Amino acid sequence: MALSFSCYASLNPQLQHKPITQSNKKCLEKVKNLVRANGVCLNTSSPHESLQKGNWVKLICGASFEDVVDIRNLSLVYTLAGVDCIDCAADGAVINAVNEGIEAARAITPVRRPWVMISVNDHEDLHFRKAQFDPNECPLDCSRPCENVCPANAISMNDTHGVLTERCYGCGRCFPVCPYDKIMEITYIRDAAATAELLKRGDVDAVEIHTSGRHISFFKELWDGLGDSVDCLKLVAVSLPDIGDSTIPAINMMYSVMEGNMSFFNLWQLDGRPMSGDIGRGATREAIAFAVRIAAAKDKPPGFLQLAGGTNAHTVDGLKKHRLFQTTTTSKDKNVHSSSPSSNALIGGVAYGGYARKIVGRTLNSMQALHGHACIEDHPEHLVMALTDALALVGPIKCYPSS
Ligand code: SF4
Ligand code: SF4
Repeated sequence: MALSFSCYASLNPQLQHKPITQSNKKCLEKVKNLVRANGVCLNTSSPHESLQKGNWVKLICGASFEDVVDIRNLSLVYTLAGVDCIDCAADGAVINAVNEGIEAARAITPVRRPWVMISVNDHEDLHFRKAQFDPNECPLDCSRPCENVCPANAISMNDTHGVLTERCYGCGRCFPVCPYDKIMEITYIRDAAATAELLKRGDVDAVEIHTSGRHISFFKELWDGLGDSVDCLKLVAVSLPDIGDSTIPAINMMYSVMEGNMSFFNLWQLDGRPMSGDIGRGATREAIAFAVRIAAAKDKPPGFLQLAGGTNAHTVDGLKKHRLFQTTTTSKDKNVHSSSPSSNALIGGVAYGGYARKIVGRTLNSMQALHGHACIEDHPEHLVMALTDALALVGPIKCYPSS
């Protein structure tokens, strides 16, 4: 607990841990029992082994999401649920928040430390943008559809800024609903030199490069800019959308840029329908269809495959339907193997973003309504609820007994 306290104070010096009451102790026991009963403590295999087995789970905090209090609590909850990796914005304060959440989880009960990954972009990308508008310019009689549609509670007309920048993760849902066209899109590109410094800090294990896959020169420029900072990494992921027949040539070209000095594992994140997992069942179809095609391709370069973009509670069923869940051959051709060693699962795992944040976010929001900004372990009745939801998402991939 002491570690959690001192770290959290760096997020918000005004916040102090609450004294532990008898009822809180009981709830924390319940948290430990949930972790124990699902065998999360016993899950001592490395994240790399999870990729090989096909049971890798990554939490995506969001390449642009920077609410450090939520990020800290999300990281705590999903570390207890046994994720292999936590992917966050390439920002020092955000990385601190993730690491603080992880250590706070490990102070509650001994669980494995997930890898910490930061996300960067080689050019303009949907994941690297913010919405912005001046609420003073909004007509007073506007029904504020922007507020209703925002999945991140990032729009507040009581706030002088309109958009709470640190909460906006660029999903874009507010842009088309404004009847007065007041909302601007602000895009940005993470600086390669600043990213290289973050990678050398020692508390980051992996980097993810978001690319359109259409301009190898942008990818190469970023890669060259990262220089030897990638040498200390465990994993480099490349996230790209489905660009049809150009996808395999694109990933082959990117692999040829990276392969000169590969002291790390590499992964291709197949971003089906970006930032849509919280929308519903249909959102996962594009991610599954993308994975089916790439898994069956014979001429792809080495690297684990992982789904993202539209992933949610229906994704595992979709993978099972296509016999891609923790299998080493495709259903169409038993002789077709991944270009990775044949003992590896065809699909290394799944990354959950908006959906993972939504299910735990419900509890974080209700905790905040009652207690303001707080450490979730100080309100373990909320931690029990959040962990139960997180285990329900992670469990089917990890094959936990409760799922
Ligand atoms: S709807 Fe999406 S883009 Fe708009 S403010 Fe909310 S998170 Fe940002
Ligand atoms: S919908 Fe447009 S005009 Fe209305 S409150 Fe939102 S930004 Fe302002």
